[in-house]
Amino acid sequence: MSPAFRSLNLILLGPPGSGKGTQARLLAERYCIPHVATGEILREEVRKGSELGRDVEAAVSRGELVADNVMRGIILRHLDRESCARGFLLDGYPRTVEQAGMLDDLLAELGRAIERVILLTLPEAQIQDRLSGRLVHPGSGRIYHKVHVPPQQAGKDDVSGDDLARRFDDTPEAMKRRVAVYGAKTEVLKEYYRARGLLIEVDGSGQLQEVTEAVMRAVGAPVGA
Ligand code: AMP
Repeated sequence: MSPAFRSLNLILLGPPGSGKGTQARLLAERYCIPHVATGEILREEVRKGSELGRDVEAAVSRGELVADNVMRGIILRHLDRESCARGFLLDGYPRTVEQAGMLDDLLAELGRAIERVILLTLPEAQIQDRLSGRLVHPGSGRIYHKVHVPPQQAGKDDVSGDDLARRFDDTPEAMKRRVAVYGAKTEVLKEYYRARGLLIEVDGSGQLQEVTEAVMRAVGAPVGA
């Protein structure tokens, strides 16, 4: 973490395909804070076949939201940890106003608060393209895009050389549903955090590196002005 920050409690918001996961990984590495990606946590539980995984599999596969109380348990387990003591980066949570309220309450109990919410924007016309070309490395969660962030060798992870795969919830129907759910339930969080003076919007439609630089500037920029 940069010595300029005492703590860095961040949320990355944005529509499906806006590059949240990719940017979150880079940010978390840059600032040495844990990346708490609720979608990845849930997909891992499904892969492991745990009780939680079995409970959420249907919702995740269809692109529907997992119940708020289940998400609360997950967030509690992941934020109330020593590794998050100096900051964290939430990616995929909150997704509803109820979840945002729960998060505020939980952080208040821990004597902490969200310091910045970065909204990655993406024109609707680009969302399908970003989602349909997405590939992941199942072992690490590294994210690629066939065109925008291509692996060095087609279909292979740059670091391990393993095969890349589609996310099991990247079916056309689930992708469409996730976009609709974002509009219906999550988009409103923009106003929720803007009203608190925490929101910074970053154009997510540019080249990967440009967006990363803009996101880093947003992390360092004053908010609430
Ligand atoms: P993501 O990887 O962020 O696109 O999330 C994949 C899927 O996980 C979503 O479509 C939901 O089914 C589920 N999910 C992830 N985060 C949440 C959340 N905060 N609330 C409810 N469901 C979630």
